[in-house]
Amino acid sequence: MNVYDSERMIEALGGAGYEETSTPDDADMILLNTCHIREKAAEKVYSELGRFKHLKAQNPDLKIGVAGCVAQAEGQEIMRRQPLVDLVVGPQSYHRLPQMEAKTRDGQKAIDTDFPEEDKFDHLKDRPKARRAPAAFLTVQEGCDKFCAFCVVPYTRGAEVSRPGDKILTEARDLVERGVREITLLGQNVNAYHGVAPQGGEWSLSDLIWALNDVDGLERIRFTTSHPNDMTDDLIAAHGECEKLMPYLHLPVQSGSDKILKRMNRSHTAESYLKVIERIRAARPDILISGDFIVGFPEETDQDFEDTMELIRQVNYGQAFSFKYSTRPGTPAAERDQLPEDLKSERLYRLQALIAEQQQAIQDSMVGRDVSVLIEKAGRFEGQMVGKSEYLHAVHVLDQTIPVGEIVKVRITESNRNSLTGILAN
Ligand code: SF4
Repeated sequence: MNVYDSERMIEALGGAGYEETSTPDDADMILLNTCHIREKAAEKVYSELGRFKHLKAQNPDLKIGVAGCVAQAEGQEIMRRQPLVDLVVGPQSYHRLPQMEAKTRDGQKAIDTDFPEEDKFDHLKDRPKARRAPAAFLTVQEGCDKFCAFCVVPYTRGAEVSRPGDKILTEARDLVERGVREITLLGQNVNAYHGVAPQGGEWSLSDLIWALNDVDGLERIRFTTSHPNDMTDDLIAAHGECEKLMPYLHLPVQSGSDKILKRMNRSHTAESYLKVIERIRAARPDILISGDFIVGFPEETDQDFEDTMELIRQVNYGQAFSFKYSTRPGTPAAERDQLPEDLKSERLYRLQALIAEQQQAIQDSMVGRDVSVLIEKAGRFEGQMVGKSEYLHAVHVLDQTIPVGEIVKVRITESNRNSLTGILAN
């Protein structure tokens, strides 16, 4: 989502005469777009800001800003701790950047961490029609009402808000006009999407996906990130029936122990999660499942961890993101007794080894198969193009004549560590 938001900030500031530079040394404004999910996020931002001190000394007109969830969480404190910061903007206010920038030009500090009423996506209609990469993100929903005990999202991104269906369709058509063939619908809890339908009433995520399925020129649809409890019947069915919806689902579980899931306030059990996976696979047998895991959550016993390992064996993941639990100030789990670091590390090591084994086996099983690849760019080596398969595997295609944006059938000849290699299929 921060990639998407950064692009929108560049567009918003485009109206004030700014364009992107490739290095901070050339910049008249440096905006750090921050994420609060990782450990010690705020401290990393302060240390990063310290690195810009010499640039500000060389160019007193240089403006420095902090955006994103750390800006939202820290607010005014950022300017107190690091006076070289001119501007602090939360994720709901980046459309106000031009006004904030004008204020800083007058020598004032600008801070905006509101959750404004107006639609922050409204300025998108005025953006220049520049050509885009063939795969793009599109935010459809923000915020979360679930309040998992470890997570800051409900505090930094606020309550669940879904964008109206017609605005999403307009943005999708605009992206297609600019060369986009694949759209990943984004939301912190994307499958809880419930936007106003163009004809009135409400659209669920599957309604939105079906509407996007009819957009000419758009060839692929994905969505992320989902909560198991919001995998509704219609959304599961769409995986089997909607031609443009890709066979890939990122469905975080976090733990395989019901006790820990309860302490995490996840509101699902290991069994209900496995049921969803079973139904998704019944609808789309070849779907690749990806997940998220937190290891070493407070009170996690050896048995709880073994339950997680067992769940992983049952699901067989094609990909997963896994982390040691670390505290987020202000969240309930941060107040609890913490497990020793070395125990967490040992468990994480074992879990990642199991997932890596599954991931590699699934990737290796692609050898000899034909997959469809959306070509995204030239490969690192001469004579190669690289793109993504429908299962989101990176695929190197041994043919340099295929244009970027083309979707081609590729016969997989080789499985490497993190990618596949193939040749054009007849
Ligand atoms: S559902 Fe996801 S975004 Fe929402 S609180 Fe839980 S982890 Fe955070």
